[in-house]
Amino acid sequence: MMLLVTSRLPSPWGTYSISAFGLEGDRFPHIVLHRGIEGALESGAPVDVRIHSECMTGDVFASQRCDCGEQLHHALDHFKRHGGMLIYLRQEGRGIGLVEKLRAYNLQDGGLNTYEANAAMGHGEDDRQYTDAVDILAHYKVKSVRLLTNNPLKGKALKSAGVDVVERIPVIGTETAENADYLKAKKDITGHLF
Ligand SMILES: [Zn+2]
Repeated sequence: MMLLVTSRLPSPWGTYSISAFGLEGDRFPHIVLHRGIEGALESGAPVDVRIHSECMTGDVFASQRCDCGEQLHHALDHFKRHGGMLIYLRQEGRGIGLVEKLRAYNLQDGGLNTYEANAAMGHGEDDRQYTDAVDILAHYKVKSVRLLTNNPLKGKALKSAGVDVVERIPVIGTETAENADYLKAKKDITGHLF
């Protein structure tokens, strides 16, 4: 994996440097947005980081089956005010891809929770990997982070890869009738903190 291109991205949440990481010719590279982190990079101070796995239905279409879109926008709003880095990993549907995720939605409408549905289709409960995120942090020489997440496993994955996670910043989402079961399953099974 390598840095393929860097450009400028003005957004409602401020102007970002946007970079794509992957292999040359990659159509679905990982994306990094960052703003206001130059001082921290120079001094070695912790950088506010959100590692977000792609969820097209949530991120783009504001699906109420999950809280991904809301978490993404919460993080960008945080970066608008405090600066920071978004690492957007192309591992849709906890790594099973969009088609399988939509099939899992049908199983969920039949009564299974998000993890049971993935397992019923022969996938792991959570196939997401964070090694590419660790490589991206290393590219920017970020050794210390304040992690925007509700998922304690993400912090553990980074710590075990040698990244210093000095603080966890909760990402508050809204519970809706549609996502209540999903949020409960995340809390019960992986110990998500809300
Ligand atoms: Zn989602």
